[in-house]
Amino acid sequence: MEVNGSPTPEGFEWFALEMQALGFTKIGGKKIRQDFTRLDLQTRIRKIQGYETGFQYSNGTYAVKVWTTFLEKENKLRDKGTDAGWVIITKGDVLIYCAQYFTRKNKNFFVDMKEYARINKKKIDGNPLCPCKKCEREMEIHRKKGSRQYFWICINPEKHSKPEYLSWDYGLSEEDKKFLEIRRQNTASYKKKNQKAKEESGKEIPTPKATTRKVREVGRPDNLKK
Ligand SMILES: [Zn+2]
Repeated sequence: MEVNGSPTPEGFEWFALEMQALGFTKIGGKKIRQDFTRLDLQTRIRKIQGYETGFQYSNGTYAVKVWTTFLEKENKLRDKGTDAGWVIITKGDVLIYCAQYFTRKNKNFFVDMKEYARINKKKIDGNPLCPCKKCEREMEIHRKKGSRQYFWICINPEKHSKPEYLSWDYGLSEEDKKFLEIRRQNTASYKKKNQKAKEESGKEIPTPKATTRKVREVGRPDNLKK
């Protein structure tokens, strides 16, 4: 069967079936509205119109969430330039990991997001144990400060004086790693291109609105799930 993972309603239809086959459940407008109420979330930068469809997979500790920008009621993706696709990992209500956003210029928009969802599900389900034989606790996802580098980490000074680390790609197949590498390279060359355009034009390249997406104020922090 030919895969249509394009950023279109047809692409979304394919994506929704794939996600369900992977064990993800759909998060609809009602759940999102509930979260907004529970946490009294305020979008500071812009008003997001309508409630888009997302998908979630949770293993009890971590959850992978995918935001598609697809508005099911209107059977369309959000207008270009207003937002992007996201694949994130959360623990309770806390954002733990955020992949580089997905733009709808990419004709394989839904294919790439599906692969990221699959790989991140594999990561959280394969949560490694600390390699220190005296410890062997479940490791945690850790982001190196001020960077986009992630690791598995274990901090347990009673058992080992220094933190133990494992690669963020721990447990992935060669094929998975190859896929990630292609996207990492694309992101790097996209950034380079933007940088060059900025130098030539002297103009600041506008930051995609998407990057401001998570700038939200939690009005009821006491309702946060840890
Ligand atoms: Zn440990």
